[in-house]
Amino acid sequence: MKFIDEFRDSRLARGLLRRIEDLAHELPVVRFMEVCGTHTMAIYRSGLRHLLPENIVLISGPGCPVCVTANQYLDRAIAYARLPEVIVCTFGDMMRVPGSSSSLELERGRRADIRVVYSPLDALEVARQHPSRRVVFLGVGFETTAPAVAAAIQQAASEGLANFFVSSAHKVMPPALAALTTDGRLRIDGFILPGHVSAIIGVEPYQFLAAEYRKACVIAGFEPLDVLQSILLLVQQVRDGRRAVEIQYSRVVRPEGNPRARALMEQVFVPSDAEWRGMGVIAGSGLALRSEYRSHDADATLDVTVEPTVVHPACRCGEVLRGLCEPQQCPLFATACTPETPIGACMVSTEGTCAACYKYGRRVETGVSDG
Ligand code: SF4
Repeated sequence: MKFIDEFRDSRLARGLLRRIEDLAHELPVVRFMEVCGTHTMAIYRSGLRHLLPENIVLISGPGCPVCVTANQYLDRAIAYARLPEVIVCTFGDMMRVPGSSSSLELERGRRADIRVVYSPLDALEVARQHPSRRVVFLGVGFETTAPAVAAAIQQAASEGLANFFVSSAHKVMPPALAALTTDGRLRIDGFILPGHVSAIIGVEPYQFLAAEYRKACVIAGFEPLDVLQSILLLVQQVRDGRRAVEIQYSRVVRPEGNPRARALMEQVFVPSDAEWRGMGVIAGSGLALRSEYRSHDADATLDVTVEPTVVHPACRCGEVLRGLCEPQQCPLFATACTPETPIGACMVSTEGTCAACYKYGRRVETGVSDG
């Protein structure tokens, strides 16, 4: 664990904090948003919000893929699961997310065949083992997971696995960043950009944020020192009146990203409009299956009736995901809505802002070792 410990060293953290403090007192209030659920968890777990100068404000955005998945998608997945011949395969985080009137977990309790998998290749194997059943994989995630799903679809096509389907709720991050940037209520000065997504897409898709919208941008790693160093780089950009897309997470992210993974995605998916929980439909922010893979597209080929969307009237997940509301401002937080009794998606997912706040946000600690 030596390598990890180096990124949690409290002396280095204190040094970075001092440098941030030195620069911050020259600045007005500046607001940086993280748009990755792993960053959200890291920030809450390490207590960084409480360690920064008061005028350096961190806001959590729509970084958790399960959380941003709209109710209508969940309701459709539940409708698939109710078809007697269908096996639904999903990542575990989706199981307990409440839909309009049910959840995948509840449906499994009612004898629907719903299986938790760790990879789309696991779902392919289920399809091989059950040739007389239709297997629907719930494709939820950002650019990080889409290439693996694309590979699974190509593999199914090459094997002639006609019973393998994907329901794609994949989303891409840059159009959502544009939507956040143009939301006048947020007044974001810069973004802590997602390390995993950026390992795929590289730097170029973010350049408009710096060039057109004058936002400071840093692609960040996930350890406390990564995040602190990224905040320092953001503060330096603001102090210098400079705007750029910088890479702090250079041990993983290359400027050009991963061209092979992107090529795989582009072979199988086309950009589509997509609905984000709390943000509505964002043009070009989704990934739909290309027409040549239509026979594996669950949403294009399986006929189900999807119930009308209902959300809990007091749930403020939509505002939490847009950075307009802190979890504690939701009247249900830590009362009716807890990780054991989640009412909104943000309390279910391990990367959800409400779950992070519930677990870590009510106590203050540094989270860095005294090594
Ligand atoms: S506390 Fe629960 S109900 Fe409120 S915004 Fe968070 S997830 Fe939604």
